[in-house]
Amino acid sequence: IIMVFLTLMIIFINNEWHTSSSGKTFPTFNPATGVKICDVEEEDVDRAVGAAKAAGQRGSPWRRMDTSSRGMLLHKLADLMERDRLLLATLETLDTGKPFLQSFFIDLDGSIKTLRYYAGWADKIHGKSLPVDESFMCLTKHEPVGVCGAIIPWNFPLLMFMWKMAPALSCGNTVVIKPAEQTPLTALHIGSLIKEAGFPPGVVNIVPGFGPTAGAAIASHMDINKVAFTGSTEVGQLIKEASAKSNLKRVTLELGGKNPCIVFADLQLAVEETQKGALYNQGQCCTAASRVFVEESIYEEFVRRSIENVKKIVIGDPLDPQTSHGPQIDRQHFDKIMDLIKSGKEEGARLEYGGAALGEKGLFIKPTIFSGVKDHMRIAKEEIFGPVQCIFSFKSPQEAIERANSSQYGLVSAVFTTSMDRALSVSAALETGTVWINCYNALHAQTPFGGYKMSGNGRELGEYALAEYSEVKAVTIKLSETL
Ligand code: NAD
Repeated sequence: IIMVFLTLMIIFINNEWHTSSSGKTFPTFNPATGVKICDVEEEDVDRAVGAAKAAGQRGSPWRRMDTSSRGMLLHKLADLMERDRLLLATLETLDTGKPFLQSFFIDLDGSIKTLRYYAGWADKIHGKSLPVDESFMCLTKHEPVGVCGAIIPWNFPLLMFMWKMAPALSCGNTVVIKPAEQTPLTALHIGSLIKEAGFPPGVVNIVPGFGPTAGAAIASHMDINKVAFTGSTEVGQLIKEASAKSNLKRVTLELGGKNPCIVFADLQLAVEETQKGALYNQGQCCTAASRVFVEESIYEEFVRRSIENVKKIVIGDPLDPQTSHGPQIDRQHFDKIMDLIKSGKEEGARLEYGGAALGEKGLFIKPTIFSGVKDHMRIAKEEIFGPVQCIFSFKSPQEAIERANSSQYGLVSAVFTTSMDRALSVSAALETGTVWINCYNALHAQTPFGGYKMSGNGRELGEYALAEYSEVKAVTIKLSETL
């Protein structure tokens, strides 16, 4: 049924399906088999921005809608995603290669919860009255920014879509969303649910396409007022540059990470959480636990248990519910990971497990563990974005913190310890937007997420994200009468 449904996926603008005005299409592939799933119509950013601008104008149905009704629409969309959960999870797995149960439980759960969280905010976004000097009164109002562009990566296509769209709509904006070229399918199904939920035409527009064309057109568009991007640091820099050279649109960036974990104690928990952190989603996470620092006294036992633990992973067909590890996203990315694994071997890290591709078909790489990793090695410095766990040893907390912080990135970190004192002092010293204590990848719609340093700008999720999607207007009133 899915294959019939997917003969050609098209562009979603103004609540209608359009073919590309350029006539161009591109294929999307199943990374587990290499088989083409379908062709997708390519871009039309200008048309989409025009629709989004008109839909967000003063006096439009969307701008006049009660804020509580805006919230109800987001809830309705969440209901429809619950209804279509099986279809969406299957599409996500076909397009990304991620194991089905992870799509069904983690991606769908996170997406639906994000929608419901921001549905709740829609009628609670308000300004303040300020005690200003002299005979004046000042009120602040939070208004929509306008047309918001969103450029989505391929590792969490649906979840990243919701992290961007839900707060934007909750604040009353309109959106133009470009899914990653590798994974456009779930986004396009959401288009049909947007229409079914009853959003006014033009509020949400979805334009599949490539980065240097559709993505760049969003970043430099004069009628887009804000862009939210998740992806590589290199492209993040291009987005900021394009904003500066066009209309200085607001930019939020969620970029790479080389995320440190510091393990002092609670050995078995640390083994399981750091390994899950390193290998989850085939290692294709900006939050990947890619540098695990272990205190010298427990280092050997940690490595031994990590090797035991990795043997529990089941590699296979992502649609099989038994599978816990699927293929990498595409050939180019597969080659990049294999090159980094080769560099680890050549630079003298100790290969404890994996380190090779699995079979000829698909793009599977065996979960890989390196121990004895040194800070100067490429695998210690570059974002691998693949199923590679790198284990280092350290002698003192000061040394561990210094090495953990010596990175251009600052996205997430974790500390494993049974001492509350140690947990709080180390978390205070780590230069990252998130610190997990005795857990990993604990992400919630209520909690802000974003990076220090070159891991990005701004925050997604939580109340903090609302500020990224609102303009604050100060209305000052002269009071002529003093009573
Ligand atoms: P990318 O940054 O090129 O792609 C992410 C998104 O940006 C896609 O939608 C893409 O079409 C778009 N894009 C690409 N070039 C653009 C441009 N010039 N202007 C505007 N948009 C553009 O990432 P990739 O090439 O798919 O992967 C490369 C590396 O990026 C990965 O190995 C990984 O290190 C990193 N990455 C990080 C994340 C994350 O979650 N932070 C996600 C995907 C990739």
